[in-house]
Amino acid sequence: MMDLTEKKSVHALLARHGFHFSKKFGQNFLIDDSVCPRIAEEGNACAGYGVLEIGPGIGTLTQQLALRAEKVAAVEIDTRLLPILQETVGKFENLHVIQGDILEYDIPALLEQEFSGLRCAVCANLPYYITTPIIFALLEKRLPMERLVAMVQKEVAERMAAKPGSRDYGALSVAIQYYTEPEIAFIVPPTSFIPAPAVDSAVIVCKRRSEPPVKVCDEALFFRVVKAAFSLRRKMLSNSLKNMGINSEQCAQWLQRAGVDGKRRAETLSLEDFAALTNTFSVEK
Ligand code: SAM
Repeated sequence: MMDLTEKKSVHALLARHGFHFSKKFGQNFLIDDSVCPRIAEEGNACAGYGVLEIGPGIGTLTQQLALRAEKVAAVEIDTRLLPILQETVGKFENLHVIQGDILEYDIPALLEQEFSGLRCAVCANLPYYITTPIIFALLEKRLPMERLVAMVQKEVAERMAAKPGSRDYGALSVAIQYYTEPEIAFIVPPTSFIPAPAVDSAVIVCKRRSEPPVKVCDEALFFRVVKAAFSLRRKMLSNSLKNMGINSEQCAQWLQRAGVDGKRRAETLSLEDFAALTNTFSVEK
């Protein structure tokens, strides 16, 4: 198996294929031999599991997934990487490399087609420019995946896992925690990649919840309330929640119905508080 964690041989491989990194696709390839096996293990890649990899790059993480999982499907947008992947991971019979944009894919159909009868996980060193759209595309579709293991910017991982009352807690934390139980597994320094990104990265493990932790009458409304509350995160709720298209009086009545003090700020609200606000929202004239 080709060693894809040795800087010199990776540069030689890329030069042989006339490949130049594309900023547009967020290409920072892992060259740290300790990181990919850990991601694969966090993703439960093993017999009985199908793993969807997003953005295999030159196949560094793909190798480790294909060594462990029953089946791997890897979706790569950049057509220039296909001949490289053919060379580096083409021999794995349990691997299907698919060219395409993950955001354009019918992911539920893809999982059904690739992993029918298998348990399922998603592992990815995500292109940073579209980290959150990809994560939401995966979570909102209620895929049958058990966990999502993703390399993201450390600062984004901290926001995803943040608890109420912390500086990092925001709409992203609420949304991720509504669907999953996130936990930062480990931090990865810029030196683990070529080219080296400007900031630290982190691997976050998001275990899919079988049921959301709170019951809401309307999910779209729940996310609207969260967004409105955090739209003015330094302001009191009695102010920020007027962004729901209501006046001060309607807002005060609503907060009272929900049992939430209007002097609080969004960053102190638990998922239960947001659910209470959602379930008592009504615009009475
Ligand atoms: N997995 C490789 C690694 O760890 O070395 C590469 C990670 S690199 C940060 C992100 C990869 O995602 C690149 O190969 C890039 O071309 C690919 N990519 C970017 N946008 C994508 C999209 N919308 N759909 C699928 N792949 C994408």
